[in-house]
Amino acid sequence: MSPIDRLTSLFEKFPGIGPRQARRFVQYLLTSSPALRQDISEQIRSLGTQTAQCKKCYRWFTKESKSVLCPICGDEHREKSLLFVVEKDADIDNVERSNYKGLYFVLGGIIPLAAEEPEKHIRLRELLRCAEEARPAEIILGLSATTEGDHTREIIQEKLRLPAQTGGFSPKISSLGRGLSTGSELEYADPDTIEQAFGNRH
Ligand SMILES: [Zn+2]
Repeated sequence: MSPIDRLTSLFEKFPGIGPRQARRFVQYLLTSSPALRQDISEQIRSLGTQTAQCKKCYRWFTKESKSVLCPICGDEHREKSLLFVVEKDADIDNVERSNYKGLYFVLGGIIPLAAEEPEKHIRLRELLRCAEEARPAEIILGLSATTEGDHTREIIQEKLRLPAQTGGFSPKISSLGRGLSTGSELEYADPDTIEQAFGNRH
């Protein structure tokens, strides 16, 4: 396979990228400077060597020390009584622009409506273990205001409310208020909207 075809098929693996867009990326790289191509390939390589996934919240972070925890989980000053459950890393980046000062947990996805084994789509077991170990006073579910988001929320609530699943611990569970309109995602909400949804949590 030629480098052009090979790179096109690699770009096609990206979420939301079809063959035409993938081909356009390759075309762009062909006509861009060798320095840019070099930079891109080096940055991709360093993703494997300079980043790590936090052992507690599962977000990816830049390794600056030997710590297995990300800077947020490793920060003594964060409010440990609050655990904000989000779908993906980018949600945290955005929530950090608001006044929230608690901790996070990244689910790594959402549960499709017809899924028979929810554990295969999100870090459900890891969340239960995190809740049991961290014992936050409140767990806030910050999932998309979509049908799949609601479905995922119901399954998580059900599991978190079974004392057998969390070592006898039963936290208060809340959801973000509807300051976030239907279908909107945390990743794109502005700080004011996030604070409003947070204030209206129920
Ligand atoms: Zn972390």
